[in-house]
Amino acid sequence: MVQSRQVHLVRRPNGMPVPEDFAIATVDTPDAGEGQVQLQAVLVSVDPYMRPRLDADQPLGQPLLGGGIARVVQSAHPDFAKGDLVMHRAGMQERFVADPRHLRKLTPDPDLPLSVYMHALGGTGITAYGGLLEVGALKDGEQVFVSTAAGAVGSVVAQIAKLKGCYVVGSTGSEAKAAWLRDELGLDAVINYQAEPIGPALKAATPNGIDVYFENVGGAHLDAALPRMNNRGRIPVCGMISTYNGEREGVRNLSTVIYSRIRIEGFVGGDFPHLQAQFVEDMTGWLKSGRIKTQETILDGFERAPEGLIGLFHGRNLGKMLIRAAD
Ligand code: NAP
Repeated sequence: MVQSRQVHLVRRPNGMPVPEDFAIATVDTPDAGEGQVQLQAVLVSVDPYMRPRLDADQPLGQPLLGGGIARVVQSAHPDFAKGDLVMHRAGMQERFVADPRHLRKLTPDPDLPLSVYMHALGGTGITAYGGLLEVGALKDGEQVFVSTAAGAVGSVVAQIAKLKGCYVVGSTGSEAKAAWLRDELGLDAVINYQAEPIGPALKAATPNGIDVYFENVGGAHLDAALPRMNNRGRIPVCGMISTYNGEREGVRNLSTVIYSRIRIEGFVGGDFPHLQAQFVEDMTGWLKSGRIKTQETILDGFERAPEGLIGLFHGRNLGKMLIRAAD
């Protein structure tokens, strides 16, 4: 029996989550029983989708729902050995016992950092890839707008669109992030929506309109994009982070979908199992050739998971936000 820590929700947030909504609980972890493994968390993912769940679905006093990469520290299962790495969805727990049926063994590519499996080669990557290429039906050379372009999903979307020869405009919330998008990722235009109103800035940045708006924000961003959409434009709706803390900005320009024949379609990253093999091949090649660059904001210490989650809603991450629980 060892002691372990868990991140619990102790009260439901009132709007923007604050540290007092969470607690770090210490619990006893039993040894692995027959057919089980005991795991040590290595990388813990914090993701915007967790916030809406805090209003109802996330039980109070239980580990926060979520996933990460963990290392086997005890095995009573023939297919798993001490030291193996796995992907899990067991929530925010530092040390825990799991049934291997709920785990995916990870064989990391020695030429890539482990963190890419939580980012460009993981859920973030397939969400960007499937959302842009299948739902967005992107064609080479089109006009693309990506919101939260400096975040985990957005930065991958923007780079795939650049690879496809598109004109790419990104929005983000700080000058430092805007500079990264312009100077490192080579976007054609970048809007700092905190420094200038998104509507006129997007109009100026899209002289040839928008064929695909990869939607991550909602609210004022969607309202600004709608009148800029070209005929038969597509809006794959990945997320609407500006609404997750209870804000409900009205969208006034929705009628533009009629005469511009715009298709708006929501999706989730799990919609693309049929693309998985091609995605892994493409993304591995792009990462190894440097055509897709990844950036992470990694907070050291399991106990910093609430800070990481809250930080997403204050724009504290460049690229994927992760928590490092162990080396
Ligand atoms: P992320 O972009 O790495 O992090 C969140 C970013 O959102 C922040 O850094 C901040 O960037 C921006 N932001 C926060 N509050 C905002 C607001 N009120 N208005 C505008 N921007 C705001 O997170 P991610 O994991 O890549 O997720 C991005 C979007 O994709 C989210 O909407 C998420 O829900 C969605 N998503 C969906 C799926 C799916 O399966 N459908 C999967 C993954 C993610 P700035 O500093 O640039 O504002």
